[in-house]
Parts: sequence; structure tokens; C-alpha cells
Amino acid sequence: MTGGRARLTFLGTGTSQGVPIIGCKCEVCRSKDERDKRFRASAFVEYEGLSILVDAGPDFRMQMLRLGISHLDAILLTHNHKDHTGGLDDVRSLNYVDRRAAEIYCERNVLEDLIREYPYVFKFPKYPGAPEWMLHVIDERPFILRKDTADKELVWVHDIGYHYRLPDGSLIPTARSLDDMIDEAPKAVAADVSLQSAKGAWAPCASRPIRENVRPGALPPAANDGELSSGLSEPDDRFETAEPSATEVTIIPIRGLHDKLPVLGFRFGDIAYITDMSTLPESEFAKLEGLKHLTLNTVGYNRHHSHFSLQETLDLADRIRAEHTWLTHLSHSFPVHEVFDKELERMCSEQHIHSIVRPAYDGLVIE
Ligand SMILES: [Zn+2]
Ligand SMILES: [Zn+2]
Repeated sequence: MTGGRARLTFLGTGTSQGVPIIGCKCEVCRSKDERDKRFRASAFVEYEGLSILVDAGPDFRMQMLRLGISHLDAILLTHNHKDHTGGLDDVRSLNYVDRRAAEIYCERNVLEDLIREYPYVFKFPKYPGAPEWMLHVIDERPFILRKDTADKELVWVHDIGYHYRLPDGSLIPTARSLDDMIDEAPKAVAADVSLQSAKGAWAPCASRPIRENVRPGALPPAANDGELSSGLSEPDDRFETAEPSATEVTIIPIRGLHDKLPVLGFRFGDIAYITDMSTLPESEFAKLEGLKHLTLNTVGYNRHHSHFSLQETLDLADRIRAEHTWLTHLSHSFPVHEVFDKELERMCSEQHIHSIVRPAYDGLVIE
């Protein structure tokens, strides 16, 4: 479903180097206020019973520990810069707890980068303990996330066909090139979402698969005879007819540009999370109507090649008119949190901004 109630916890609200910055002696970096200690940008979203992480940067491990998170239904990646993907090795801890691969949703160009940057994850034979990922390709179209509560005895190694592990613990190799892996990565199931009502609320229509996820690990071992070198196998009837008990939600991606790099933001019900954008195309504003909470990125007062300036975020907040707009990806160019908070309050009042714009901080919860 979509339009449901979401709760978002900011796990990190700092720029790519975090705050404090190593070696910096500025007032912000020396501040004793916990709100001035900013991990790399990331958010934890609880939405209709699903636990969703947006981005897994270098602080991923500490972010999970700090909040006591031991399960994720999905990891959504906004783009492939290291402050957003540098912690993906550490998802292996969750692999052990969940006994399944981490479900990662990203754009095709991000998938290509991950294959290049984490080659050991895709290697066969796999080094024991390497992370297990299931990668789904998404784009700016709405898609459906499912909480799959089906048989947990089946352990994914990863989904794009390099090999997989059967319930007896054996690995099934498939000879595949990197190009094949990229071509055949399953796409997320698209949701038909139409704009309804004058307020522009997004509502789901019947879902339609772009291409069903391929689930080799779901096949019983006996069904795999002759499949060992044929690559990905379509799920057979025995699996398909078994009704998995699943919860599903519709996620609405928001297309933006980070300098020239295409990136995605995400809308969960009445909360939208946008980071690392410097351009928000006209086509995307309809996806941002009727929000209670909006998150926007800014790294400083001045125009920046890949991030909104502070004034640009205020102008966007005024146009989008979410009840609250929270700023993230903050750097030490802004004053300490307490001062910055008051400064934003004053600017909003002076400019008659139609949203309450405030700096986010690590640990802040919005719902
Ligand atoms: Zn970033
Ligand atoms: Zn500093």
C-alpha cells in the first residue's frame, strides 16, 4: 500500500566527511553538543511494518549499533558515492542474523559500480563471510517493496546468478560474465501509481511486474538438475503457487541530479527523503505534494556544484510546502546546531517560507 504512516529516524545528517571533520579545530567540530556530531547521511524508515534503510555509508555499522537495528527488509541506495555505499560490506552481520541476503534496491548505474567496487562479493568461489546481497534494479518509477516472510531456511548468496546456496549448504555455481550479471539483475516490481485528487496524493492501482524477481534459491534441490550452468532459473510452479505471506508497500522514487549524476530520493507515505541533489526537475514536483515532512540536502550557504545552497533549500521548501522541511548532509560551514536552528527560524519568518525549515540531527525521529 502507499499513503500509509511512516516514521523516519535520521541515522546520519553530515556531509561526506561527517562532522566533526578529522583534524578540524573549528567551533562546530569542537562542539560538545551531540547534535553537532553528524554521521554520514542515512535514514531508517519504518513503513507499514517494513524496516527500510536509505543509504549505507561508512558509518553504517555504528548507525545500526546506536539504534539497535538487527533487521532490514530493504536497503535503498540514492546513488553510488562512498559516503552512501561505503558501509555495504558490513551488511554481512545482518546476513548472519537474517540468514538471507541483504535486499538492495538501486539504479542500474549504481549496480554496475558496485560490481566493480566490491568484486569479492560477486566472486566464485566466494570467500567465506563475504557479504550476501540481493540487488534489485529500480529507476524513478514507483515500485513495490515486499516483506517476504517465506521459508527462511533458504539462504541467498546473492541474486544475480553467480551462485547460490541450497538448504544443504552447497553452492551452485553458474558461469557468468559481469555483463550478464548486470543485464540479468532482477528489476523491482513496478507499481502503477496515478495522481489522484486535487491535492495530488499518490494512490496505488493494480501492480504490474516489469520483470519478476528471479529466485533460484527458492527451488527445491531436486528441481535443480540440469540447471547448474544455465544461469538464473525462473521460479517453478511449486514455488509460485505457494502463497507467501507478505506485506507490501509502494515506494515513490524522486529523480534528481547531483551535479550531472542522476540520483534518487524516496517518498514513503507523507514523508519524502531527498539528499545529494543540486537539481530537482520540474517533473518531480507532483510527487512531492501533500507532504508532512520533507528532507532536503545542503552543505553550505554558497552555491555548490552538487548540492543545494541554503537559499535554494528555502526556495524549494517554500514551493513544495511540506509542513516541515528538515535539512541534512550538513557541513561545518554552518554554525553550531543551536545557532543554526535559530538562524533558520529567523530566515523562514523574514522570507515568509511556507514550511517550518529546521536542521535535522542524528537521532531525530519524524512521523
Ligand atoms: Zn553525500
Ligand atoms: Zn570543522
